[in-house]
Amino acid sequence: MTQALQSKMSEQITITLPDGATREYASGVTGLEIAESIAKSLAKASIAVTVNGEQRDLCDPITQDAQFSIIKLDSDEGLEIMRHTVTAQLLARAVKNLYPEAKLAIGPTIENGFYYDVETPKPLSEEDLAKIEKEMRKLKETNAPIHKSLNSKADTLAAFEKRGEPYKMDIVERADQEDGFQLYQQGDSEFIDLCHGPHLPSLKHVGVFKLMKVAGAYWRGDSNNQMLTRIYGTAWRNDKELKDYLHMLEEAEKRDHRKLGTEMGLFHFQPEAQGSVFWHEKGYLIWQQLEQYMRRRLTAAHYQEVKTPQLMHSKFWEQSGHWQKYREDMFVVPDVVPNTEEDGPIFKEEPKEFLALKPMNCPAHVQIFKQGIKSYKDLPIRMAEFGCCHRNEAHGALHGLMRVRQFTQDDAHIFCREDQILEESIEFCKLALDIYKDLGFDDYTVTLETRPEQRIGSDELWDKAEQGLMDAMDAIGLEYTINEGDGAFYGPKLGFIIRDAIGREWGCATLQLDFNLPERLDATFIGSDGERHRPVMLHRAILGSIERFIGILIENYAGKLPLWLAPVQCVVATITGSADEYAKEVHQKLLDAGIRAELDIRNEKINYKVREHSAVNKTPVLYAIGAREAEERTVAIRRLGSQAQNVEALDKAIESLAQECKAPY
Ligand code: ZN
Repeated sequence: MTQALQSKMSEQITITLPDGATREYASGVTGLEIAESIAKSLAKASIAVTVNGEQRDLCDPITQDAQFSIIKLDSDEGLEIMRHTVTAQLLARAVKNLYPEAKLAIGPTIENGFYYDVETPKPLSEEDLAKIEKEMRKLKETNAPIHKSLNSKADTLAAFEKRGEPYKMDIVERADQEDGFQLYQQGDSEFIDLCHGPHLPSLKHVGVFKLMKVAGAYWRGDSNNQMLTRIYGTAWRNDKELKDYLHMLEEAEKRDHRKLGTEMGLFHFQPEAQGSVFWHEKGYLIWQQLEQYMRRRLTAAHYQEVKTPQLMHSKFWEQSGHWQKYREDMFVVPDVVPNTEEDGPIFKEEPKEFLALKPMNCPAHVQIFKQGIKSYKDLPIRMAEFGCCHRNEAHGALHGLMRVRQFTQDDAHIFCREDQILEESIEFCKLALDIYKDLGFDDYTVTLETRPEQRIGSDELWDKAEQGLMDAMDAIGLEYTINEGDGAFYGPKLGFIIRDAIGREWGCATLQLDFNLPERLDATFIGSDGERHRPVMLHRAILGSIERFIGILIENYAGKLPLWLAPVQCVVATITGSADEYAKEVHQKLLDAGIRAELDIRNEKINYKVREHSAVNKTPVLYAIGAREAEERTVAIRRLGSQAQNVEALDKAIESLAQECKAPY
């Protein structure tokens, strides 16, 4: 122990607990000792601590006054620490035990799990996973304590050199850790791993784990480097959590909108239009229902719908700040005059001017606002557009409807006075929640994203903007969490995250306050004082991107969309050719009632037809028509997902179905 630490340890420090209570300890007290002094049971359940907002190991000495809390396995933080220990201690050591020549690279946690990159003489395959998992289990059963040591750079390098770990040495060589390098080991094992920690104090806190798959990954993500095997795994507190997670994955695969979209004939993608959707008739029917519903909602909420250009001059984007910040992500088009001479080159000269496909609609809406003089009495102006935008996403980032290059935002900009921010924010939140309810999402969380490091606008403006949003949420009693530093470069942001039927979260609605763009694009209104003022601009979307939202709907409902959104609401299928004429009449009556209906009089068995329209196409209602139905003027009704069949009189059946098919608004 150094003298400095010894003298510090004779001092008293004040530890503040989460409930605000304070306790005095000798400097150098560890998190574990504090936990023990509060309650033995608490110490047993502790796996790490937080000291002044930073996660630390239980064994770390605390040498200054601190805000202190205990991390247990039942928290998200605790689960993350456990996963970290599973990958860095169990997985890494198991690989070394089984393949002594293996070289370890890095092993971070990821959403719901972890991975470890390793180099082995022969790349590992999925078949190796069971063996590794078995070895991990054997290690876990030792319940070994996990020790930490702090080491100098030279000692750390020597330790890894001795163990033949070039990747670890590379990490240490590039790092500059003043207070030493942390090495963790199980009991007195030869195995060590370098880690920022914290780790579980012992393997007995490890829950259940499963290795999932392997993939190739380059060291430091650079394809000039060695290809490593990346072993993916997941870890949970208990069997039930693991089972639920695996079930969710299975469900997610079954619900994959790309798979269902193809089966149901809704849309397709092809390489010639990377990241842009070919909507087929049935997919576009869903789109139209959703768009029309949103339009009715917007009209009722006093929005005005506009349509703005796809291509606009670069100077707009320079003014808005996009050109400087996001040019790489924009599709830029040279503005040149085509040559009309017959045999000449296509273009006469090098382009001097550029246009860009709009990545967002905001600057265009400001142009509409700026037409004519606006008075304070004209505000708020709520300008909406189903705006088609393009962003140059990397091919690797594209994912079905969820991540595309061409998408349509249900966008709107509210131009208002500062004194209207609160009411407009409140109205927006209410509208978003009503819409989610209609679309079947009752479970959501709200976040407030505050000023990021890279931003435009003064701190004073940011203070005002952030406070405005908080006041609005407080006014309607919406609970929210604050994500420091995640706001857009032009203003703070409210985000709505909806949870789908299998527990996945999707960020959708946003409301962004913006005091900056009106200034940059010189938007003004005449106030009651006769002077020019800047309007505040609220950027807002509720679905986000229509493409993505349809993807979320398909996955949430596993393709079984509510009647009002289903592209085909009812199929009339004949059992026998003798019922064809009656079936045609039924079909026509459905169409006359405004129901999206199809007629299936193919010469196929009814079970075949039912399977195709239900299991594959997910049509909510099927009318089976046989000779008896034709004679009695009835329909035998089958509902998607039910084996039951109800026979009803034709007119009555259609009347009630038409009612059911109505949109919720
Ligand atoms: Zn905007």
